[in-house]
Amino acid sequence: MASYVEVAINLPQISNTYHYHLPVELEVTVQAGSLVIVPFGKQRAQGVVLRMVEQPDVTKIKDVEELVDEKPALTPSQIALAKWMAEEALAPLGACINLMLPPGLSQRTDTLVRLNPARAFEEETLSPLEKRIVHLLQDRGELRGRQLNASLRHVEWRGTVRKLAREGILHTHAVLPPTRVRPKTVRKAALAISPEKIETLPDPLSKIQRVHERRLHVLRFLAGEEGLVEPSWIYAQTGANNGDLKMLSEAGLISLRQTEVWRDPLEDTVYIPEKIPKLTHDQAQAWDRIREGLNIAQQGQTPAPFLLHGVTGSGKTELYLRAVRETLAAGKTALILVPEISLTPQTIKRFLSRFPDQVGVIHSQLSEGERYDTWRRVRKGDLSVIVGPRSALFMPLENLGLIVVDECHHESYDQSDSLPYYHAVPTSVAAARLNQAVILLGSATPRVTQYFQAASGNWTLIELPHRILAHRETIAHHARRLGIEMPLTPGEGDTADLGLPKVSVVDMRQELTAGNRSIFSRELRAGIEHVLETHQQAILFLNRRGTATYVFCRECGYVVKCPRDDKPLTYHSRGDQLICHTCGYQRKMPQTCPQCGSRQIRQLGTGTEKVEQMVREQFPQARTLRWDAETTRKKGAHELILNLFTNHKADILIGTQMLAKGLDLPLVTLVGVILAEVGLNLPDYRSGERTFQLLTQVAGRAGRSPLGGQVVLQTYEPDNYAIQAAAHHDFEDFYKKELAFRRDTQYPPFRRLVRLEYQNSDPRKAEGTAESMAGTLREWIRKDNRRIEMIGPVPCFFTRLYGRYRWQIILKGQDPAALLRDRPLTDWIVEVDPPSLL
Ligand code: ADP
Ligand code: ZN
Repeated sequence: MASYVEVAINLPQISNTYHYHLPVELEVTVQAGSLVIVPFGKQRAQGVVLRMVEQPDVTKIKDVEELVDEKPALTPSQIALAKWMAEEALAPLGACINLMLPPGLSQRTDTLVRLNPARAFEEETLSPLEKRIVHLLQDRGELRGRQLNASLRHVEWRGTVRKLAREGILHTHAVLPPTRVRPKTVRKAALAISPEKIETLPDPLSKIQRVHERRLHVLRFLAGEEGLVEPSWIYAQTGANNGDLKMLSEAGLISLRQTEVWRDPLEDTVYIPEKIPKLTHDQAQAWDRIREGLNIAQQGQTPAPFLLHGVTGSGKTELYLRAVRETLAAGKTALILVPEISLTPQTIKRFLSRFPDQVGVIHSQLSEGERYDTWRRVRKGDLSVIVGPRSALFMPLENLGLIVVDECHHESYDQSDSLPYYHAVPTSVAAARLNQAVILLGSATPRVTQYFQAASGNWTLIELPHRILAHRETIAHHARRLGIEMPLTPGEGDTADLGLPKVSVVDMRQELTAGNRSIFSRELRAGIEHVLETHQQAILFLNRRGTATYVFCRECGYVVKCPRDDKPLTYHSRGDQLICHTCGYQRKMPQTCPQCGSRQIRQLGTGTEKVEQMVREQFPQARTLRWDAETTRKKGAHELILNLFTNHKADILIGTQMLAKGLDLPLVTLVGVILAEVGLNLPDYRSGERTFQLLTQVAGRAGRSPLGGQVVLQTYEPDNYAIQAAAHHDFEDFYKKELAFRRDTQYPPFRRLVRLEYQNSDPRKAEGTAESMAGTLREWIRKDNRRIEMIGPVPCFFTRLYGRYRWQIILKGQDPAALLRDRPLTDWIVEVDPPSLL
């Protein structure tokens, strides 16, 4: 019987693990994965037991003090996964373990207090407070700290409880509190009086005229809405705030009600057929192979990962749903990873409606408490399907039978802003292996490295070459809702078929030659006019990466940059301000060029605000809506914008974001990309790939409408292969050319990379440290006799971040990470297989 354990301390800054002695009374109950309390330095800390140890590594060893919860916090396969990650990503094990515990877990621990029935005592010897505590426990049985707080308001009872525990009168024990049973609700508002009364209110709604009118506006707005309305919508429509709603509610003019469990931005706009559709021919073939995989997993072996390659709308999600159903039927659980909940609303909705009461959704807007609740419910086995972003991969699902990674090329699967720097796709593949689970990776535009895995036989490739568009009933539903005729080409079975949209590449240099200086080409202009005339909708897209609206001098080329981050400042027409989007630095727009004094200094007009302004100038009748980082900062903003657009409250959506998935917008018949090559010229080996992915995805937004569809890509580089391949919906072509480029330049998948980054606010210190590290690395390479190429040290493309200078070194080779294993790299950010070199 091992009576020592290895413990990972649950404090973010601690990455080592430590050995502790296990007292006899804990020997039976503590196991790998248990949450325990241990002495750590001068404090007591929470930690997770990683394994039993025969021989401790130190002679002077401390005892584990307490077991917090009978049920282990981590499953055995989670511990194995954390170890794999630490090894693979060269990350501290503690940081990997931390991903698997809900945030704030240590603060959440509570104390359970109960009387010791075996210990008799004289009441008279107790102090008044001691008596109160003992009586409480006699009356109500065992109590948690939070309950004692409630019963003994403003009384410092903890010291007294400790004293009684020392005397043996009480037992205390650390526990995790149960989840709240109260389901999540949201507040909504409705008009409480009849609409006619609004115009004849006896009293003003505020002494201030402006406020009075705003509140009146709320009432009038609500009068025109049916049913309950979300506050965020009211705020957006009227400029009102929470205080206004409160006042109106107290005056009895509106009613505020708590409703709804899952906030659904699509309400009745997304129709989900009740019946599970019969698979198309392509789907049925794919399904045969997936089912084979599920059978292999049933026999306790791990099938090779499946890569489902098919355009948006080719029926991948329908296959995921089937695989989940089969997995649940076999008594196992399933995990569905999506890029971001707010960008995939329809997918979430389909899972929720197909598997009612079994699905837990994790999203970024959950509070710490809600996250903790979900974690506990999963651990208890109450939820058997989890849908969420990359962090959902670390939920304690037992008996995992299936992992789905939808849109597996998406950048959000890489964590590159905090420790551990890891990639959710390879990590999911490892998790599938550790659980003998099936893994389905789906994308219309897989990364070159991912497709290469399939092409070289490590993964099983499943192609879904045809677009389904939609279920026929869905189209009929849209037609009814919008009151329009929708002629459709019936497809196979229940599907409605439609070809891919027509994409045209417009050469902007020729527009200039023809005398058109506007940001809209003649073709895009005509398209917008047509959309407005026919009451359809358009999306104008701008790439977020690379440039926003930077300010430069047309005479000398000087670009106005942030003095702290060295990045181009972005122009905002409101207040004529220049803003740094990295650190928040602001300055006024200069009148003349700081370098040459010319008055020809102006912004390069490609920001969303700028585009919106141009649309308003050139199409005054158009109702516009902006979807970018600025307009979506507030909670619920994504949902609101989507809701407004799907309900045709705007004609043109101008955005830097794209719905990653699903969502039929039947009125959208035009998608324009303002400048297709933005992002293409960034100094990164994946620029071409990213541009291709983005353009393909954007193009997929159009032509989902039976009314037809058109995509216009505007560019100054019409011959670029990424742009051409996207325009022709030709993944194969792109892959071939990109793979050749990677082979020529020796980048992944032909070599692996490690990126080392150092930051310092002193530029000389940054450079000096980078130089000396380069020397050390050269020495290590020589000593180990490894074939590793070193690039750098060089300043990063984004030279400064938060006032700190960034330098990097790239290692290239078959397995460059091996060079760094067990070598000191303090203060360096180490990223294995970096998805970006910027
Ligand atoms: P993807 O995940 O590849 O984007 P989906 O599975 O979402 O594709 O399918 C696209 C649309 O077609 C959805 O609206 C879905 O309901 C519908 N659909 C998928 N498979 C079928 C089928 N076999 N019969 C009828 N409709 C289908
Ligand atoms: Zn100048």
